[in-house]
Amino acid sequence: EREEPHHFGAGPAQLPTQVLQQAARDLLNFNNLGLGVGEISHRSKDAKKVIEDAKAHLKELMNIPDTHEVFFLQGGGTTGFSCTASNLAAAYVAKTGEIAPAGYLVTGSWSQKAYEEARRLHVPAEVIFNSKDFNDKKYGSIPSESEWSDRIKGKKFSYVYLCENETVHGVEWPKLPECITADENIELVADLSSDILSREIDVSRYAMILAGAQKNIGLAGLTVYIIKKTILDEISKVHDDELYKLGLPITPIAFHFPTVVKNDSAYNTIPIFTLHVMDLVFQNLLSKGGVPAQQRENERKAKILYDVLDQYSNFYNLPVEKSCRSKMNVVFTLKKEGLDGKFLQEAEQRGLTGLKGHRSVGGFRASIYNSLSLESVQKLVTFIKDFAESNA
Ligand code: PMP
Repeated sequence: EREEPHHFGAGPAQLPTQVLQQAARDLLNFNNLGLGVGEISHRSKDAKKVIEDAKAHLKELMNIPDTHEVFFLQGGGTTGFSCTASNLAAAYVAKTGEIAPAGYLVTGSWSQKAYEEARRLHVPAEVIFNSKDFNDKKYGSIPSESEWSDRIKGKKFSYVYLCENETVHGVEWPKLPECITADENIELVADLSSDILSREIDVSRYAMILAGAQKNIGLAGLTVYIIKKTILDEISKVHDDELYKLGLPITPIAFHFPTVVKNDSAYNTIPIFTLHVMDLVFQNLLSKGGVPAQQRENERKAKILYDVLDQYSNFYNLPVEKSCRSKMNVVFTLKKEGLDGKFLQEAEQRGLTGLKGHRSVGGFRASIYNSLSLESVQKLVTFIKDFAESNA
């Protein structure tokens, strides 16, 4: 039992209480087995069903076409940075017999980190643009396509990478860049760690999606991958020796995508409790009307929050350009100095927690992931208003 939290932390996020109550019961005794879901073999019938169910529910929620495969991997988003680079560089070699750089669209610290990891692993990679170069050396905007689309013309990339929602800086791609999606030769890879299932997307436009679980879909420990089957086929054609000769990294076996898929996400021991929690979140979302209903609620939540911050714009500062404001992570600062501690303290007194901004940005960040109710956001809106009025 617990009181409904109003936790605005950037991740791990709060999860629906109902889901956690069911998970707690299943941790003790799953399907009347007399054993908890975390205690059974990952190859048992019951564990296999958890994997199948999670996959089927995610496919339903996201309308994932048969051209794409879903799998789950241990590790987080950062693990995804590494194994994306090594697996997809191999796919390109298999497809073309050549090496081409991966292209990164950098709009915040997570896409920057993904780029740095590719380079660290000696996967050829370049930055197509860094949004800092268009915005006074700061993140907080996304340049319009006309400002950078020339940079991809006539060039070959093993893949092009973007982070749909930059969790730290509160910058979200409003839609995918058309110069990328319109080019059939470009394999688009996207990190959806902090906005998966928050809005409807067309999965067929992506070569690959990765998303760490601990924001919209569950507990930390697992990452969801959605990948085009043709890419899996290509990766499985490449021999490690060939990669070695080309100076490309060899993917550790537990992160080798075709191996994981061939073994239904259980090549090695998958944390089945963590996956079960994820599946309970999927079921919960399906029962509430799926992604379209969630999207409508998320839009309302973001609107009332940005509206109040805009209304008190003499008191609060919003560093992100309107066109790319995140609907998941609302970043703001106080114009007056010396009040940050008071803001956090008074927020906590009203039960509003997790509002401290990322250490690299300062100020505040209200993460309003799927499990944050409209009511929680309304409480925050009231507080933001009250605080501005009593400290103006
Ligand atoms: N990508 C995004 C968009 C994130 O927000 C995060 C973590 N907050 C990561 C990647 C890294 O995830 P992890 O900590 O699970 O490695």
